[in-house]
Amino acid sequence: MSLSTAMFRTRLAHTARRQLPARRWYAAGVSGDVGKDAKAGQPLLPGIDALQLQVNKTASPKQLPAPGAPLLFGRTFTDHMLKIRWTEQAGWEAPQIEPYGTINLVPSAVVIHYAQSAFEGMKAYKRADGNVTMFRPDMNMKRLNNSAARLALPTFDGEQVIELLKQLIRLDKEWVPEAPGHSLYIRPTLIGTNGTLGVQPPTEALLFVICSPVGPYYPTGFKPVPLYGTTEYIRAAPGGTGAYKLAVNYAPGVVAQKAAASAGYQQNLWLHGPEHYITEVGTMNAFIVFHDADGGLELVTPPLDGMILPGVTRDSVLALARGHAAGARIEGMPVGKKVRVSERPVTMEEVSEASTSGRLVELFGTGTAAVITPVEKIGYQGSDVLIPTGPGGMGPISGPIWKHLTGIQNGLIEHEWNVVV
Ligand SMILES: *Cc1c(COP(=O)(O)O)cnc(C)c1O
Repeated sequence: MSLSTAMFRTRLAHTARRQLPARRWYAAGVSGDVGKDAKAGQPLLPGIDALQLQVNKTASPKQLPAPGAPLLFGRTFTDHMLKIRWTEQAGWEAPQIEPYGTINLVPSAVVIHYAQSAFEGMKAYKRADGNVTMFRPDMNMKRLNNSAARLALPTFDGEQVIELLKQLIRLDKEWVPEAPGHSLYIRPTLIGTNGTLGVQPPTEALLFVICSPVGPYYPTGFKPVPLYGTTEYIRAAPGGTGAYKLAVNYAPGVVAQKAAASAGYQQNLWLHGPEHYITEVGTMNAFIVFHDADGGLELVTPPLDGMILPGVTRDSVLALARGHAAGARIEGMPVGKKVRVSERPVTMEEVSEASTSGRLVELFGTGTAAVITPVEKIGYQGSDVLIPTGPGGMGPISGPIWKHLTGIQNGLIEHEWNVVV
């Protein structure tokens, strides 16, 4: 261990030991049992322990992106990455922060053959005062654990990984962009690594985290996108894996997206079943706003029925809209009009009729990368269903919610959702 690593560990031990619960141990051979009591007679295996972190700093830091230079999404990576190995026999090993670089896999690694891979997308923001915060990281840790359990990959203590994310981001703090609308995109990934060509629960795994500075998704302001109402391909099905952030859900969507693009549309609007239920917008959750019969507005998103990815942005939009309805007013949201929030199924027929009758107010997608994406039209069964869009591309609900939500993320509005790094 180098001197600097030793010093780093000592400092970490002092700062972290006070705040962190002790590492949890878990019974071998049982997936998804984090925090549960060990079964009698089974050996206890170590969980992830942030206090065991070993840091190997890069000797050749990369050039930081020039301020103001456009940052294409996911092309630039910071100096360091986090790696935590797991084996069935020994549990989670000591976490490592290393220079960003290649990972070694044997060609028989199960992830390559059977897609045992789950990931997350989350962001950290630099505030005007120089502090860096992560947005709702507990939600991402919970979701990654759910994804892991769905693939029989090992689960883990999310609090320990949040502590390790803080250490990683502190080390690469210079990489968190300061410009408005910029952030550090964080990509935790969990893969099965044992080299055995049999379809079975992975016996070895790697949890790693890489970080990428990103600019605003829409640098020139909101541009409402055209969607293609897709019925030729499906993203998710009942009993499938649509509700989990698994690599396996994304590769098959690429040809569907290409088909939509060659027909002149930007993304797929995934429609389910003979009723053509609206499910998701590309890799975003879908929201629709209708005029209510009583003069108010209804904000609708499809329910979490097993086909919908439980988005952190989706949850945040719902919480803010429900808060507004309950009196915690959001600036710019319609006053005097009731805003009703529903999680219910919506068919393409309902949207199409609402478009014709004037009942449709707006339709948008939500996700970490772009936060909110307004939609201008949907190609559906040979013609275009037109969606109203407001000034600047945003509607009467999406505009104020976007402003409030990004205000929280950037630290202009204090909120418990922000976790200081
Ligand atoms: C990641 C993702 C979302 C959005 O989730 P957020 O947590 O809001 O980023 C929505 N749908 C799909 C299919 C996704 O992969």
